[in-house]
Order: sequence, then C-alpha cells, then structure tokens
Amino acid sequence: MPSQPIISVKNLVKSYGSFTAVKGISFDVYPGEIFGLLGPNGAGKSTTLEIIETLREKTSGEVWVNGMSIDKSPEDIKKIIGVQLQTAGFYPNLNLTELIHLFIGLYQSEVDPIELLRKVNLEDKAKSKFKQLSGGQKQRFSIATTLINKPSIIFLDEPTTGLDPQARRNLWDLIREIRDGGTTIIITTHYMDEAEILCDRVAIIDSGEIIAIDTPNHLIDELVATGFEKEKEVKKANLEDVFIQRTGKAWRDES
Ligand code: ADP
Ligand code: MG
Repeated sequence: MPSQPIISVKNLVKSYGSFTAVKGISFDVYPGEIFGLLGPNGAGKSTTLEIIETLREKTSGEVWVNGMSIDKSPEDIKKIIGVQLQTAGFYPNLNLTELIHLFIGLYQSEVDPIELLRKVNLEDKAKSKFKQLSGGQKQRFSIATTLINKPSIIFLDEPTTGLDPQARRNLWDLIREIRDGGTTIIITTHYMDEAEILCDRVAIIDSGEIIAIDTPNHLIDELVATGFEKEKEVKKANLEDVFIQRTGKAWRDES
C-alpha cells in the first residue's frame, strides 16, 4: 500500500457485560479504498463501525481516523466522516428537500439540496415525502445524507440488504462513483458476490475476530491453491444473470 492509512484499528476490544463481541481486532484502511467488513450476523461488524464513527464506547484498543485518535478528537473526526443513520430515523412526513435542509442545519454545510439529490438520481423526488420512496430510493437518499458535510470517509452498514437485484446493482454504481470522487468507503455486507465485485479489500470477521484480510482476488487464489474445487462445473451465467437479462437493468423504483 502506497500511502498512510486513513483508518487504523489496533487491538480493538468491545465487551457487553461478560460477553466480548469484538476480540482484539486490528486492520488499516487506505485512502480511496472501498473496504468491506464481511461476516455473518452477530460477527461484530456494526459494533466495530460505530466505535470508529465515535458513536459507541470501546472497551480497549486504539483507533485513529485520519491521524486523529477517537479518544482525543471525536468531534474533529465527526466533521470528516459521513455516517448512514438508520432510515427509521427520518421524519416520514417531510419531503426530501426539507430533510436535507434539516441536515444542512445540523452540519452547517453549504451543499445544494438539488445537486445532492441529482448525485443519487433522486432529483425528481425532491418534493416527495420520505415514506413515499421505494426501498432502493430510501437507501440512495440515506447515502446522500452521508455526503452532506463533504466527508473524506463514509460508513455504509449493510446498504443493500433487502434490495432487489436492479436496485442493488445501481447502488454499487453509486458507491463506486462516490469512491471515484475521492471518498474512502467502509461497507459491511453479508453478500459475498457484492463484496467480490465492489470491494478493493475485505476483512472477514467471525465471532469478533478477523480471520482473513486481503483483496477478494488473493483470498480466492489462496483457496484455489489449497486444491479446493467447486463440486459442480460452474455455468457461464447464474439465475441472477437470467433475472437481470429478462427484467432489464432499469431502476424499477423510478416511475
Ligand atoms: P453484526 O453487525 O456483525 O451483525 P453486531 O456488532 O451488531 O454484529 O453485534 C455483535 C454481537 O454483540 C452480537 O452478538 C450482538 O447481539 C451483541 N450486541 C450488539 N450490541 C449490543 C448491546 N448494546 N448490548 C449487548 N450485546 C450487544
Ligand atoms: Mg450489523
């Protein structure tokens, strides 16, 4: 890796009472990466993200974000990160423009709401209420709100869970565009196809421990080198390809 890490996690531990959810993990994230935190439900992904976001107390260990310690500079860290709030937290009866103005007030940012909505392909929904949006549109709007303070890093916790294949693919494009604009992205997912396509590097976390960390390609090559073979010969397409081919790539929630 060429540059200094933008996030550095060292021996991070989080206990909830007598239960230790995160057991001394260490990893670095580099500027401009899409870094995936992969693992089954309960692995400790959200706990880890929320500690880095300075929204949850750690038990022990050290975390630096852009050279700043979460212990010493949480307020300065909050200024340079974008955090995806639970969509349940959005006032359902405000329209998207009103919601963005609310956030702009919180962050004292100077973003143009329509420009922001255009970035996530929701400009024609500017006057729609949040509750009227489809699942994919809600996710795109929630990603837009992470960009309001023009952050260096954004955190996306399972942004594609529950979306249909078209909405999922279009969200991948959006995430890549944000990365190409210079923002570092940490994303959690339990969809391995998604991680393989989207992430520059991944850490696999299981029961609070990192069991592998590398590029998806290296991890696959390593497994193949052990003599691993798939049981069936793989077809050149899968059922999802059939689905996308037959139903088209258009965003279904746009009409
Ligand atoms: P993931 O996001 O990977 O699904 P979490 O970080 O949400 O995992 O949770 C990791 C473990 O910690 C789980 O066993 C979960 O039940 C437990 N946990 C999470 N938050 C709390 C909490 N506030 N109090 C007690 N246990 C918690
Ligand atoms: Mg989680």
